[in-house]
Amino acid sequence: MNSKLYHIITYGCQMNVADSQTLAGCLEKSGYQATEDEDIANLIIVNTCSVREKAEERAFGRLGDLKRLKKKGHNLNIAVVGCMAQRLGARIIDRIPHVDLVLGTDRMFDLPEILEQKESIPEIHTEFGHENIDDAPAIRDTPFSAYLTITRGCNNYCTFCIVPFVRGREKHHPADHLVAQAAELASDGVIELTLLGQNVNSYRDGKVDFPGLMQRIANETDIQRIRYTSPHPKDLSLRLIELHANEPKVMPHVHLPLQSGSDRILQKMARPYLYGHYRNMVKKLRAATPHIAITTDVIVGFPTETELDFQMTLDAFEETQFDSAFMFHYSVREGTRAWKEIEDDIPYELKIERLERLIELQKKISYHKNQSTLGKIQDTLVDGFSRRDNSILKGKTPGGKTALFAGDEKLIGSVVPVKISQADSWTLHGSVYRGSEGYRPIGFFKPEIPDSVAESTVGIPPALRKALGRG
Ligand code: SF4
Repeated sequence: MNSKLYHIITYGCQMNVADSQTLAGCLEKSGYQATEDEDIANLIIVNTCSVREKAEERAFGRLGDLKRLKKKGHNLNIAVVGCMAQRLGARIIDRIPHVDLVLGTDRMFDLPEILEQKESIPEIHTEFGHENIDDAPAIRDTPFSAYLTITRGCNNYCTFCIVPFVRGREKHHPADHLVAQAAELASDGVIELTLLGQNVNSYRDGKVDFPGLMQRIANETDIQRIRYTSPHPKDLSLRLIELHANEPKVMPHVHLPLQSGSDRILQKMARPYLYGHYRNMVKKLRAATPHIAITTDVIVGFPTETELDFQMTLDAFEETQFDSAFMFHYSVREGTRAWKEIEDDIPYELKIERLERLIELQKKISYHKNQSTLGKIQDTLVDGFSRRDNSILKGKTPGGKTALFAGDEKLIGSVVPVKISQADSWTLHGSVYRGSEGYRPIGFFKPEIPDSVAESTVGIPPALRKALGRG
């Protein structure tokens, strides 16, 4: 039996998903093979998130459960990597002694070499400064979509955020290299590329800024759909707004974290913009690209938040009409400026009450926004099956929404026009559009739609079948 079987468990954001894919690439280069069955793995890696306490507690719970596998005695190594590993280092071993390796955000990609050379257990590596970590070929979930990390780290130090401490200061990858990587991914079959960074729109390499990088990828590669996450409102430039309007390969979706509708709270968070500036940017985005989807992140119950401050957030949501939002209550993070300087004075029950009120409001707004797609045709990248019904296909619209529709699984991996006939707060429902009247495709892809929609298992690429867990 292969004694180099690995299994990765990932928590957190898309950056962590991308890191896990790169780590899988590093391991496979060193002779490891992936297994979905953690009971037979010799190496279990838990890639962690530190943004909220809940995410860390979930990872600790999972690590505790892994003790039963350690007892089986098949030379199992357990590695904790990523943000929580960076933040807590040796404290992870104090709490979970059966962990063998703790590797921070810059050292996790050295895992194969560290495993080769390790002399004693446990080992802890949390130094920053490792270069070229995004050069390793990633093992992607699907052959048709990919992540490309363009920047790592963050220089902003928002008072609530642990990210600059666990990811370090901003490092931008060279533009020529990123364009070459994008071209290679396109020749590998990637249709949709998501550019990643903690603060993507502060990207710069010499004269190439973030819109310049996206324009080069659009012009110089066969990538058909480009997305990115997350931009900072302070760095949202007019050039980026123009690019959305003029470059069909850049998908009409901006995830623009607002964090609070109160200028007083924004200042306490060290977010260097006012709500008025944010509102103007949204207006300009919508004036330039009327069908653009705008989503956001928000925190309620930040220290000192009054009912009036919270009301300003509700008003901002009413006014901005986000397509969807990631909404959280404040969770203090040790080491941040807010932890050091501001008392966490909002009772937990009040945080939850505000969060519930905001979620209720956003649910109605999302429902209303999604109704505006009824009867419209959305070029949907089909990426798998509905979670509830595997005879229904699932895909992503240009605005980043989930669309469900009946169709042949051969459509997975292609861009298909879907006419929306029904919508709730979270999902669009429709059918493959076969007419051409009034249909103007967004993007360059001309999909071929098979006549038959009969159930079929033929034609799905083996890598995708594996990724989808279908044989
Ligand atoms: S911009 Fe602020 S919230 Fe975003 S990663 Fe940087 S410090 Fe954190």
